[in-house]
Amino acid sequence: MKISQDTVVSIDYILNDGEGNLLEKSDSDENFAYIHGNGQLPAKLEEALEGKETGAKVKVGMTAEEGFGDRDENQIISVPRDRFPEGEEIVNGLQVEAETDNGHQIFTVIEVQDNSVTLDGNHPYAGVDLDFDVTITDVRAATEEELDHGHVHTGDHHH
Ligand code: ZN
Repeated sequence: MKISQDTVVSIDYILNDGEGNLLEKSDSDENFAYIHGNGQLPAKLEEALEGKETGAKVKVGMTAEEGFGDRDENQIISVPRDRFPEGEEIVNGLQVEAETDNGHQIFTVIEVQDNSVTLDGNHPYAGVDLDFDVTITDVRAATEEELDHGHVHTGDHHH
């Protein structure tokens, strides 16, 4: 089956930054899958995968702009320390979820002071050039339920 709109695509991948430093790679124990054609991966990567079949290898490089966008310094905000639950350990790198005017957003803690915490709402790879090295391991049609939920159901991952 070829990758097309609304196929569920499983991939192994290695992601390097523009200088060849490893950012992340897929976990061999954990299948990474997404629903093609719904903007779940950067558009340039989905374009490169379009029409390919299981076993194909795809290498695609992209600028930060084509990937997760440029960094936006307005996404760095300071919030009072007491906005966090009592007893929760706040450390640099911790990721927290919050509701903002733009909806649901993930922030990364970048500085902790006595009375305030500085959060960065940029995607961790914003401002980073990306090189994907992908091997397609499975392609199948999405189920009605998966399309309805907007995410892949694999193994015991149903909700
Ligand atoms: Zn679901």
